[in-house]
Amino acid sequence: MLRVITSLSDIKQSIKIFKGNQVSIGFVPTMGALHEGHLSLVRQAKTENDRVVVSIFVNPLQFGKNEDFTQYPRTFDSDCELLSKEGVDIVFNPKAPEMYPDGFCTSVLLERLEDKLCGKSRPGHFRGVAVVVLKLFNLINPDIAYFGQKDFQQTVIMRRMVADLNLGVNIKVLPTIREIGGLALSSRNAYLGETEKKDAICLYKSLIKAQTMVNSGTKNFGEIKAEMEKIINNCKSAKIDYISIVNPETLEAVPEVHNGDVAALAVRIGKTRLIDNIILIFFIAIMFLSSYS
Ligand code: AMP
Repeated sequence: MLRVITSLSDIKQSIKIFKGNQVSIGFVPTMGALHEGHLSLVRQAKTENDRVVVSIFVNPLQFGKNEDFTQYPRTFDSDCELLSKEGVDIVFNPKAPEMYPDGFCTSVLLERLEDKLCGKSRPGHFRGVAVVVLKLFNLINPDIAYFGQKDFQQTVIMRRMVADLNLGVNIKVLPTIREIGGLALSSRNAYLGETEKKDAICLYKSLIKAQTMVNSGTKNFGEIKAEMEKIINNCKSAKIDYISIVNPETLEAVPEVHNGDVAALAVRIGKTRLIDNIILIFFIAIMFLSSYS
C-alpha cells in the first residue's frame, strides 16, 4: 500500500527499515503533475527494485525570480492515485521549510556544466536541482535513481555529481515519452492553449530534421541549425531560446557532429518555455555495427 511521508525523520526511519531488511530501493524524483513520462520511470523502477520511492516536491531553489514557481501545476491527490495503481511504496512529499530551514546556505555547483544550454537563460537553476537531488539521495539512499532523457542537461549533471562525490547511486536515464505527434510530455504542456499545443510540435520536427540531415551526411552544425530554425520560425507563437549540438558528457558545443552528440533546444511557445533533445546517431554506424553483430 502507498504511504505518503512528509517529514524528514519519517522518511529516514522508513529507509532505515528497508535497509535493515536488505531490500533494494529505486527512486524517482519528480515535481508532481505526473504524466506517462514520469510513470515510465516508475514502471522501470518497479521492475528493477524491491521497493520504489517517488518524491513529489516543487523545489523553490530551482526556479528563478520571474519563473513559474507559483503557477507550477500541483495535482497531489491524483498523482497519489496514479502512483498507488503503479504499486509505488512511498511518496515522499517534503515541505520547503523543513528542506530549507532558516540559515540554509549550501550550494552544489557543477562548474562548466551548469552554465551551458538551459543554464544560460536559467542562472542558478541547476544549482537548485543539484542541491535538492543530493539532499534526496542522502535521505533516501537509493540503489538506482531514474531520470528522463527529456531533461538531458539534468541527466549529465546528475551523472557527474554522483561520480564526483562518490555517491554510489546508479543513475538510469530512460527515453523521452511523446504524444503521437511527437511533442514531449511535460507538466508544463498544461500551460499551452490549443493552437500553441499544435505549434509546440515544431520542437520535435526540428530535431527530426537534424537527424535526417545527419543521416544524409550533413555534419556541419551551422547548416543543421539553419534548417531547424526555419521549422521553428514557421510557427507564429514560437521564439527560440537556444539551439545547440553538444558533446553528451561535457556539453561543449560541437561545430561538426559526431555519433552520439545531442541536439538540444529550448523554445518559448507563447509564454511557455519548452525543452527537447535528440541523440544524433549516424545511420552508417548503425548499419555497420548491425552487420557485424
Ligand atoms: P519533473 O517532474 O519535470 O521534474 O520530472 C521528473 C522526472 O521525469 C525527470 O527525470 C524528467 O526528466 C522525467 N520526465 C519528464 N518528462 C518526461 C518525458 N516526457 N519522458 C520521460 N521522462 C520524463
